[in-house]
Amino acid sequence: MASDNLAPATLAPVESGATSTAESCSSELTWDPWAFDADTGPTPSYGPGASQWDEAPATTPVQAEIPADYRRADPAELQERIGAARSTLGTSVVVLGHHYQRDDVIRWADFTGDSFKLSRQAATRTGADAIVFCGVHFMAETADILTAPAQQVVLPNLAAGCSMADMATDADVSVCWDQLDRLLGGGPGAVIPVTYMNSAASLKAFCGRRGGIVCTSSNARAVLEWAFARGSRVLFFPDEHLGRNTGVKLGLPDDRMVVWDPALPLGGASEASLRQAALILWKGWCSVHTRFTVEQIERARREHPEVSVIVHPECRREVVEAADADGSTERIIETIGRAAPGSTWAVGTEINLVNRLARAHPDKRVFCLDPVICPCSTMYRIHPAYLAWVFERLVEGEVVNRIRVDEETRNDALVALERMLAVT
Ligand code: SF4
Repeated sequence: MASDNLAPATLAPVESGATSTAESCSSELTWDPWAFDADTGPTPSYGPGASQWDEAPATTPVQAEIPADYRRADPAELQERIGAARSTLGTSVVVLGHHYQRDDVIRWADFTGDSFKLSRQAATRTGADAIVFCGVHFMAETADILTAPAQQVVLPNLAAGCSMADMATDADVSVCWDQLDRLLGGGPGAVIPVTYMNSAASLKAFCGRRGGIVCTSSNARAVLEWAFARGSRVLFFPDEHLGRNTGVKLGLPDDRMVVWDPALPLGGASEASLRQAALILWKGWCSVHTRFTVEQIERARREHPEVSVIVHPECRREVVEAADADGSTERIIETIGRAAPGSTWAVGTEINLVNRLARAHPDKRVFCLDPVICPCSTMYRIHPAYLAWVFERLVEGEVVNRIRVDEETRNDALVALERMLAVT
């Protein structure tokens, strides 16, 4: 992996009001993201940090190296260039920033939020010609589905994907579906497919065509209730943990939740267990949220007896059960925002969001459960240099890195998304 500039990236403090001495999970976090754009290995690289141990499929989008003057520009120059281009573009462009983005990117966002909140914001900005989505690939696809066809959605770095979303491919889900169909008998309601928002548009369309639905981490319970009202079994992908945590909340016993591993024949499950299952859980996970452990919660409680622990439902079941609360990023933000001054919070979610919460609430003690700094490695691929590049190209009238969903996929995915909106 070559780079013109391997200057150390700045890692923000972890605790409110304190300078961090925490170690990071990968020395590659000190590299600039374009070091990975030049990767010529057998498969694309996700980048540094949390997702680095996950294998990117060969179909993962690759980002061509951006021009050298962006890669060589210092941080102050990049911010100046972004600001100048942004003011020239005015209201013709809307910039969306996911909570897990770095500070020097999210400061340019017109709206911040989680993936679905941002896509809905995009859909309301009908006057904008372009939507610059500072997030990851599946989010930009959802924005393209929900916005008018003439609006152009731009992802500043095409390699900003999601390792969890990549764990469910069209081919593997189709094989699973056919095998379940043969084993359990097809027909309406035999199995209802439910996909998490963190999935490719093609899988949202798969659900739309087969009586299925999309869910987010904030509405997964209501969506599963909707699905069980229409069928006796649910195939939930790609996040095993969100699926299981939601199944537990619905009171499903362990023997009615079965994991489907796409790498194994019949998902690695027995025919009997699949016949008995109510919830078939795709073996996929978020590399950021599966880093959190019960031991970290115990340590936080030992060191801060007054602490409240809140984690994201993409964490493993035992972590969610050991925490005081779990919820989507939006719920975590709201909970800490409403908490009493002086309260202490250990948070199990992505470090950029935790750092921002800590700074936003200096009257509370907010820290990340994981003492090792490990940001989402694909969100990390969006850097001010890419933002400057896409903005300056837009000023010149050129749209780079447009994310387009074809019409058939868009229509079918909309069916599944609209079912979700009707439920929630
Ligand atoms: S935090 Fe996890 S689920 Fe979210 S984009 Fe990163 S890898 Fe994907």
